Amino acid sequence: MAFEGLADRLQATMQKIRGKGKVSEADVKAMMREVRLALLEADVNFKVVKQFIQKVSERAVGQEVMKSLTPGQQVIKVVKEELTDLMGGEQSKIAVAQRPPTVIMMSGLQGAGKTTTTGKLANLLRKKYNRKPLLVAADIYRPAAIKQLETIGKQLNLPVFSMGDQVSPVEIAQKAIEKAKEEHYDYVLIDTAGRLHIDGELMQELQDIKEVARPDEIYLVVDAMTGQDAVNVAQAFNDQLEITGVVLTKLDGDTRGGAALSIRAVTEKPIKFVGMGEKMDALEAFHPERMASRILGMGDMLTLIEKAQVSVDEEKAKELEQKIRHASLDFDDFLEQLSQMRNMGPLDELLKMMPGANKIKGMNNLQIDEKQINRVEAIIHSMTPQEKQQPDIINAGRRRRIAKGSGTTIQEVNRLLKQFEEMKKMMKQMSGMQQKGKKKGFKL
Ligand code: GDP
Repeated sequence: MAFEGLADRLQATMQKIRGKGKVSEADVKAMMREVRLALLEADVNFKVVKQFIQKVSERAVGQEVMKSLTPGQQVIKVVKEELTDLMGGEQSKIAVAQRPPTVIMMSGLQGAGKTTTTGKLANLLRKKYNRKPLLVAADIYRPAAIKQLETIGKQLNLPVFSMGDQVSPVEIAQKAIEKAKEEHYDYVLIDTAGRLHIDGELMQELQDIKEVARPDEIYLVVDAMTGQDAVNVAQAFNDQLEITGVVLTKLDGDTRGGAALSIRAVTEKPIKFVGMGEKMDALEAFHPERMASRILGMGDMLTLIEKAQVSVDEEKAKELEQKIRHASLDFDDFLEQLSQMRNMGPLDELLKMMPGANKIKGMNNLQIDEKQINRVEAIIHSMTPQEKQQPDIINAGRRRRIAKGSGTTIQEVNRLLKQFEEMKKMMKQMSGMQQKGKKKGFKL
């Protein structure tokens, strides 16, 4: 995962100071030396590191720490606040034009993840904000770019506006916005051309599109894995195009995190979103405070909860709640639960967002056995509809058949049936308690 080295080092440093009842200037100095090295090693821009250390040091030897009852913890609070500030402080929201459509121009070098991010962003706008986005294929140079966006559009069931590769990007953008106005789209996302390196011609073209499209936002997509290069690219694009925000992709890889920590400070433009994988739902709004929390091992429960909210279908959740109340859960529901859980993303990544998870030994090397879950699913799929709804009828003969059909063993089938039975018992007890509670006039 991204930030692993930095997180480990910072947490080890914080651990040393956490319980201290008295913090001397020498303590702060020693700590700041370690923090400085950790940041530099994470590839954070050296000027940014210098400023950061200066700010934290000043506050750490100041009144707010020295006079507090828990100076050790107070220092950590200062580090967290400054880390949050460094990454932009408040979360930066996506613009909304006074008169729709809101136009967002996507820019970036080739391979940064621009086309993928354009699709992800449209998906997010529709799924989370209930908006109607139009994707626009304005990269006429890379032969496969238009096709790639069209494929993404098809996959997401979202419209893509294209005019082939013989029309200028400026005209494509213009026509797309006209169409969006006529057909009442909320957002227009223009996927522009990239190059391997920054060049004058590219910048000119982007400026021309900007002039005509008058975008509400110009996002620069940069690859977090490229570290300091990402920061330099951001600076160059910002100088010439005046971007409004950055999308940092590939933060699911093992980037050291330097780009995420430097871009805001160097360009003074916020990181709006981060890409956390290749799939179309792997785009998250960037929350500086939550990221600081994650880096310092304080967990990120809010993102976890939001993930659950986006992936769980509300109707289905209500239905499930009813079934739990009446203890009438069956194996079809169980299967549904497993698949909803998978929609939230890889289990080990989810677990790492829990506070304190980093302190559990071996957590960083944790690999949830997804194979085990596959086996459970296979067992359930081998049941007949009747067996799924009334597991009581699954006798020895049926168990043998199910084990054979799913390529598992009778022991595994037995274990699953037993666990399921226990779960139902527990639900019965819980709903019993609720009933009693109601009678006595208090809510559980
Ligand atoms: P473009 O040239 O900037 O349009 O880049 P593409 O959208 O074609 O992406 C380049 C590659 O990066 C593709 O293989 C994407 O699947 C991959 N990619 C994009 N965003 C992410 C991300 O957040 N995480 C990971 N792991 N891969 C990504």
